[in-house]
Amino acid sequence: MSTIINSSPGTATAATNGLSPIAKSLQNQREFFKSGTSKDADFRLTQLKKLRAAIVKYEKKIMTALKADLNKPAFEAYGTEVGFVLGELDHTIKHVKKWMRPNKVKTALFHAIGSSRIQHDPYGAVLIIAPWNYPFQLLIAPLIGAISAGNTVVLKPSELAPHTSDVCVEMIKETFDEHYIDIFEGGVPVSQELLAQKWDYIFFTGSTAVGKIVYQAAAKHLTPVTLELGGKSPCIVDKDTDIKVTAQRIAWGKLLNAGQTCIAPDYLLVQEEVKDELIEQLKKSIKKFYGKNPMKSKNYCRIISSKHLERLGALLENTNVVHGGEIDAETKYISPTLIDGVTDNDPVMQSEIFGPILPIMTYRNINEAIDYVNSHPKPLALYVFTKNKKLSKKVLKETSSGGACVNDTISHIASTEMPFGGVGASGMGGYHGKFSFEAFSHAKSVMERSQMIDPPLRYAPYRMNLGTLKFLLKRLM
Ligand code: NAD
Repeated sequence: MSTIINSSPGTATAATNGLSPIAKSLQNQREFFKSGTSKDADFRLTQLKKLRAAIVKYEKKIMTALKADLNKPAFEAYGTEVGFVLGELDHTIKHVKKWMRPNKVKTALFHAIGSSRIQHDPYGAVLIIAPWNYPFQLLIAPLIGAISAGNTVVLKPSELAPHTSDVCVEMIKETFDEHYIDIFEGGVPVSQELLAQKWDYIFFTGSTAVGKIVYQAAAKHLTPVTLELGGKSPCIVDKDTDIKVTAQRIAWGKLLNAGQTCIAPDYLLVQEEVKDELIEQLKKSIKKFYGKNPMKSKNYCRIISSKHLERLGALLENTNVVHGGEIDAETKYISPTLIDGVTDNDPVMQSEIFGPILPIMTYRNINEAIDYVNSHPKPLALYVFTKNKKLSKKVLKETSSGGACVNDTISHIASTEMPFGGVGASGMGGYHGKFSFEAFSHAKSVMERSQMIDPPLRYAPYRMNLGTLKFLLKRLM
């Protein structure tokens, strides 16, 4: 186990009694969990309320940090981060006691006299690792689930959003007993040291490549995981659609957070006949949202780092840019960009774009679009724009994706009633609302039997013939 020497709170630094701060923190968490405190219903509720009050107190600081990290406009910072998390919290505070109640289920006559129930147990000490693109939401939303399910938690915010990371450390340290909820800032080495420990559950949000590293680390201890990963989310546009509304909704979903959204439409598959009209409407929407020069817009985010900006810039080389394409390295700005005439072999189609670049490809028949999607890794989201219900049903039936929207982008994430998560390369497991509680709980099947009667039928030496056994199993199960 590595021992890193240094000091500031919230970082994996000074060694404590021979144990690294991370190992010591986990030890503290295990002791705290053993005390049973985190399992208590009133305790969970109190902590959720404390978290709520802390977020309200820190709202300004969080918004300022998001502005510093990503130039997030207040509307986006509140709508997609602070407000989003408060909505999840309110829903959880309202329902957590109900979710905790064991669910009674039917008991087979065979098991009379008895009762059966599903009891949700917390896993224990859980680790939550977050990315930088929604650095507040993606750290705190899983935390709500972990608290509601009765776990202790160690958080690891992203080092690439340092201002938000610092505010989260301050807020968490001020609000919670560190033996119950702790937080470690830092990059890959800190993350790796955290992953080297034996956790009872790991909740990871980030890239598919790092997701594989997390999964391998978890496998060593058979630790269960939720992996919220990324990928290329397709957006299919049928000719039978309101092009103006379609363009607006695509431009909004693509350009929110300057395209740095895991479920942003990554690329377009447009029916040939409407491509030109769609491009025109997309250009109009971009102008309407951000003015003639988006660089001057207060509503447009910046790219998280120079490295990511360079990566995005390289994707534009030798392409047919029909709108945008301007880059300013100093301010990490890249304008909303449309690329036409894209093929599957182009660099822009080789990996998740994660920026404000929208490649446009065409299809003639919907089967071509479906085949294209199915010949690539399963996406986190899939979007289809059409007024033709039969067509949207066909697309949803014949493709597999973490989630989907018909005639919109992004919106399916903002529901406490539906699980949000990926499938295949885009991840495993889901959360939000009750699904967060379930993600951080083990559903334990409990059967309770009376001692009043104890028919000898099941005991050896077996006396019942198979015919009777088959009859009884059919009737009494
Ligand atoms: P990332 O995978 O590079 O980093 C995520 C976290 O893992 C960070 O905290 C980082 O410190 C840590 N990390 C990085 N490299 C590591 C390594 N080698 N070993 C151990 N830990 C490591 O992802 P990112 O760049 O922060 O975020 C962008 C990605 O996240 C995109 O692919 C995006 O689609 C995905 N994402 C998914 C969701 C979702 O809900 N499914 C949400 C947001 C982002």
